[in-house]
Amino acid sequence: MAEMPRPWRGVVEEYRSWLPVGPETPVITLGEGGTPLVTSGWLSELTGCDVRIKVEGTNPTGSFKDRGMTVAVSKAAEAGVKLVVCASTGNTSASAAAYASRAGMQPVVLVPEGRIAQGKLAQAIVHGARLVQVRGNFDDCLKLARGLAEEYPVVLVNSANRDGFRLAGQKTAAFEVVDVLGDAPDLHLLPVGNAGNITAYWAGYGEYAAAGHATRRPRMWGFQAAGAAPIVAGAPVEDPETVATAIRVGNPARWEEAVAALEESSGRIDAIPDEEILAAQARLAARDGIFVEPASAVGVAGLLRSHAAGLVDPGQGVVITVTGHGLKDVDTALAAAGDLVKLVVPPDPDAAARALELR
Ligand SMILES: *Cc1c(COP(=O)(O)O)cnc(C)c1O
Repeated sequence: MAEMPRPWRGVVEEYRSWLPVGPETPVITLGEGGTPLVTSGWLSELTGCDVRIKVEGTNPTGSFKDRGMTVAVSKAAEAGVKLVVCASTGNTSASAAAYASRAGMQPVVLVPEGRIAQGKLAQAIVHGARLVQVRGNFDDCLKLARGLAEEYPVVLVNSANRDGFRLAGQKTAAFEVVDVLGDAPDLHLLPVGNAGNITAYWAGYGEYAAAGHATRRPRMWGFQAAGAAPIVAGAPVEDPETVATAIRVGNPARWEEAVAALEESSGRIDAIPDEEILAAQARLAARDGIFVEPASAVGVAGLLRSHAAGLVDPGQGVVITVTGHGLKDVDTALAAAGDLVKLVVPPDPDAAARALELR
């Protein structure tokens, strides 16, 4: 019989020496991290590269936000905090609600009115968050959360928080990539919203290389939605608009750090139209069996667009982070599917076979 592998202990225990925790820090974990790095056959064939997908939707609340939240909430628990607040396009609120509840804290989440995918709203509510819809966009929510944290006895758990706890947790995804591949890839692609994750990956790759765990750092390629692409445009976007609600951000908190990551890595950033995002989401689900929410498909759309523009040299190791699970936003997925779900047959094999055009 095969020996039982040691169970994954969550990112704080797995990467403790790289994180701002001590023996006195109570570890609030749901076993986050340790996510799959799946080979994409069709993207590898298309580009002539070795393309791997880092599937962050398998985290406990369905997005990479759990990596940072375990650190932020553990540190809040260490400080004796009772109330945490966050602004969110949805996934941060779901994660904050779960981890805060587990720590016995009250989560307060601020979301843009009417602009949160239903699955994420449900998560925040079932985990017991005090949910406040804000008349405004994500950027307004973040300003409000910061104001609350300054004036009232609540602690901000956004990645914009200068304590850096969220980003410290999120950089563990880069460690995992190197631990699996044996070195950093040539290229790392990911969606960019508030720009915390690209900042965290770059920090993670840098720390691992400095410690000799990797011989190089990847070029970072970030992608924003065309209707919410302030870094691409070089100016804040007043009314960001995109089907990819998780990256509907007009004025990223980690703008400067993201630009630094792009420059230091000789990377690039580009904007992706919504149609291409939805097409990439559908192809990733149909070809690789990986269902992600629209924002999470932006890196895949970015690879397709870059390949079409002749920017992807063959023979490279490529990693694409897909950031959150498709089940969080089924409305968008079903709207895109249209008539496909309208096939109805009587309970008769011949009728079903005819409808399915078998043989
Ligand atoms: C938060 C989030 C992003 C954007 O990450 P940033 O760190 O804000 O750039 C992308 N996709 C999903 C699913 C997210 O939840």
